[in-house]
Amino acid sequence: MSGPPLLTMVCHCRGCQQMTASAFSLSSLYAQDAVSIEGETILGGLRGELRHHCCAFCLSWTHTRADFLGPLVNIRSTMLEGGSDQPPFIECWLEEKLPWVSVGATHGFARFPPIEGFAALMADFAARRP
Ligand SMILES: [Zn+2]
Repeated sequence: MSGPPLLTMVCHCRGCQQMTASAFSLSSLYAQDAVSIEGETILGGLRGELRHHCCAFCLSWTHTRADFLGPLVNIRSTMLEGGSDQPPFIECWLEEKLPWVSVGATHGFARFPPIEGFAALMADFAARRP
């Protein structure tokens, strides 16, 4: 990864709960040009238009691509050195959130936010970055 993420997020959807065997997924959005992925990946969590890439050796979920994301890649931030220093700025799929979970994100959405709104979210995220 080169440079800071464009946006950080938590996804509370049922699919992410199942993919992580936990309460939610954590991710950081980067421009494809800022990402260099070494090693082979295979697709996992096969559903819909999301392409969830997993390490071919350990099968850990590493990143997600999707046509609707355009030139953006969603990196599983817990897989990164320093990923724990990237708290979630937005949380999505609140309607499927486990009732006892609280992550303190700045923005929340009942489902995945409309992609048309991402430019404004990324601008707000960049403006608040320390
Ligand atoms: Zn999800």
